[in-house]
Amino acid sequence: RAVSRAAEVAGAAPISDMQSATPAVEVHDLHKNYGTLEVLRGVGLMAQPGEVVSMIGSSGSGKSTFLRCINLLEQPKSGRIIIDGEEIKLKPGKDGNAVAGDHKQVERIRARVGMVFQNFNLWPHMSVLDNIIEAPIHVLKEERAAAIDQAHALLKKVGLSDKPDFFPGQLSGGQQQRAAIARTLAMRPKVILLDEPTSALDPELVGEVLRVIRQLAEEGNTMILVTHEMQFAREVSHQIKFLHQGRVEEEGAPAQLFTNPRSERLRQFLSRTN
Ligand code: ADP
Ligand code: MG
Repeated sequence: RAVSRAAEVAGAAPISDMQSATPAVEVHDLHKNYGTLEVLRGVGLMAQPGEVVSMIGSSGSGKSTFLRCINLLEQPKSGRIIIDGEEIKLKPGKDGNAVAGDHKQVERIRARVGMVFQNFNLWPHMSVLDNIIEAPIHVLKEERAAAIDQAHALLKKVGLSDKPDFFPGQLSGGQQQRAAIARTLAMRPKVILLDEPTSALDPELVGEVLRVIRQLAEEGNTMILVTHEMQFAREVSHQIKFLHQGRVEEEGAPAQLFTNPRSERLRQFLSRTN
């Protein structure tokens, strides 16, 4: 699927074959508690292959928790999560939240779901190259030489061809985040979750990371993006979800949602962030 540049102007690129494709991610009625605190209160999402869904909302509205449930870093209380047609088996756990029952499945799902964190989360004691080849070699059981070839290609893609032997501490935040994106891509995930990928960056470094994410969108990667970059979300997303206190308060196509918010809460949120 090719994302057309012209469509970007309208705020969303067309997704073809919507009906026939297996959704990359389906989430139904997700609930999550921390103790008595209900952090997610029935959040759903449907992302077709190639779609970019952006999640916006105030701090504490549950955006990170939602992403962390999708890749099983957190256990939801109830609901359904289906990645590329495979439903995650959840069973009741001790603390009221569910647990993923099948460890083989958890490994499989984690390999299919890439995650880009606010604070990069690169291994500090490994070179950029070693960070990128680690999972392909140990999880996907790829040949070292093939993993290295792929890593160099990915470093080129994110504009870090000259940095394979650098350690994370020797790189700027923008470079570290681009390396982290390359590491995520090395697993060829079905969906990439990005949790405020530019929030930890100095303002002058935000653009270089957004450019890489935009390119991924144009290449047809399925992404769920949590961001405070409203203009960027508007440009690259097919769908926007506005979370408020663990619920989707409003959702829709970016052009509609940003120009003509229906709820007073979204209107207020947008006026604060612009
Ligand atoms: P957002 O990413 O939208 O800022 P989060 O998903 O991080 O929101 O948090 C949602 C709510 O859950 C907040 O009230 C937060 O304090 C709470 N929370 C998040 N993680 C934990 C945790 N590990 N233990 C207890 N409460 C948590
Ligand atoms: Mg968060």
